[in-house]
Amino acid sequence: MPSRLRTLNELDASGKRVLVRVDYNVPMNDGAMSDDSRLRATLPTLQHLLNRRAAVVICSHLGRPDGKVVETLRLAPIARRLSQMLDRPVATVSDCIGPEVEAAVAALRPGQALLLENLRFHPEEERNDPVFARELAALADLYVNDAFAAAHRAHASTEGVAHLLPSAAGFLMEKEVSSLSRLLQEPARPFATIIGGAKVSTKATVLEHLLQRVDALLVGGGMACTFLAAEGYEMGRSLVEKEVLPTARDFINAARQRGVSLLLPSDAVVVRELKAHAPHETVGIAEVASDQMMVDIGPDTVRQFREMLQRSRTVFWNGPLGVFEMPPFDQGTRLVAEAMAGLDAVTMVGGGETVAAVEQAGLAWRFTHVSTGGGASLEFLEGRTLPGVAALMQATT
Ligand code: ADP
Ligand code: MG
Repeated sequence: MPSRLRTLNELDASGKRVLVRVDYNVPMNDGAMSDDSRLRATLPTLQHLLNRRAAVVICSHLGRPDGKVVETLRLAPIARRLSQMLDRPVATVSDCIGPEVEAAVAALRPGQALLLENLRFHPEEERNDPVFARELAALADLYVNDAFAAAHRAHASTEGVAHLLPSAAGFLMEKEVSSLSRLLQEPARPFATIIGGAKVSTKATVLEHLLQRVDALLVGGGMACTFLAAEGYEMGRSLVEKEVLPTARDFINAARQRGVSLLLPSDAVVVRELKAHAPHETVGIAEVASDQMMVDIGPDTVRQFREMLQRSRTVFWNGPLGVFEMPPFDQGTRLVAEAMAGLDAVTMVGGGETVAAVEQAGLAWRFTHVSTGGGASLEFLEGRTLPGVAALMQATT
């Protein structure tokens, strides 16, 4: 049966109490947040609701407290930052359900916001416990899910509660779903995918799914080492996953059979020791010594990638092309990001570290869409139904 996403514009939120699930699972160092882009991404939804004088009850998880209270995973620092961004107070409570929360929510006036405590302090959240979902639902009249990054999990706050209240996708959720859907349904061609990151094993399913849709596949990062080893190259001490060599072989064959242009690195930046600014050299891909490891793609590979990108009308990128956390091995990632940002094409980026690399380079605004979805974006591109999205779908006849 055909179905479509119910969206925020279809909900009349004026004067209502609205429970908004967001994903503020931001990187925290000593109680400070190193990146607030996940907060910024939810502002359109929150401002829309507040401007309509809704009382907004925001909820999120943070980290993996595994069902217990973990002091360092409280959301108060996030509420402070959010309050600055929204330019209004954001109240906090010490739990996400229970009498204190009910009282605080009852006291919330139209146009006011409250951030509940970390949902994962309760084991019932990840178990999608129906009683816990009912307690969350009891806090509001409407439910809006803007947590695309958590939509691949069927948890009480992402799935259970959607069945208990009139519900809709927030603007971020809507944008993520429509942008990523474009990649799977009739992308402008040629369609190129750049795939990198650490391992083939964690991305085998998405690779398989995309391989059936792309015209070109550009492989970098640690993942390229396994592909190159499957092609018979000696990769020294590089990150080669022996157990997936046959899978890599199958991908190479499948790409050839389908006429997909498969670009593997032709040169590599190699080191003998894995640390920032380690002594390094650039070698042809057949010249990696037995005590060396590949940490970045070389300039010849960058040139080939750039040429392929310039011929493409849709580009999706997931996975850093080198160990970008350790300069200067961020060079390949940065140069390809710049080339992609300058294209007159539909350009999309997804994946936790990839998005961090693009933000770090100050290039995010130049892409058509930078997905906040991390693992959820990849599962979406694997063609899987995300439970958090499915719960917001409405049948159309
Ligand atoms: P994303 O989160 O964007 O999906 P991944 O988690 O798959 O990306 O991979 C990111 C990691 O891949 C980074 O920590 C980076 O250091 C690592 N990486 C990239 N290139 C290499 C390489 N040549 N060798 C080892 N690790 C690499
Ligand atoms: Mg990652």
